[in-house]
Amino acid sequence: MSDCVFCKIVAGELPASVVYEDDQLLAFASIEPKADTHLLVIPKRHIENLDALTAGDAELISHLMLTLPGIAEKAGLSGYRTITNTGVAGGQEVFHMHFHILGGNELPGF
Ligand code: AMP
Repeated sequence: MSDCVFCKIVAGELPASVVYEDDQLLAFASIEPKADTHLLVIPKRHIENLDALTAGDAELISHLMLTLPGIAEKAGLSGYRTITNTGVAGGQEVFHMHFHILGGNELPGF
């Protein structure tokens, strides 16, 4: 997606503080951190959000979920919050699926 900011990060056309990369995933620091540590884990392939997932994405989403805890651990987090916003009404601003990892300070319960 030529106008997608996260696709541009994947393509190396925009800078990012990358903390993890493999053939399917990229993780980098949020440009506007909402916690002491605020990382974003994305599939390299453009998928809009959870609503756009299909059965064919099962391996990818499984890989993402199984990889995410190691990314948090490598960032020094003993506990963390994982959020994914879906759609405008869900607070999504960047329409390339991403999982927020928030931690490093005490997070309020909700
Ligand atoms: P959401 O509201 O769930 O779509 O979250 C979008 C996230 O992307 C927020 O944490 C933003 O700070 C982050 N973000 C937007 N642009 C960039 C960028 N160029 N580099 C890193 N993070 C970004």
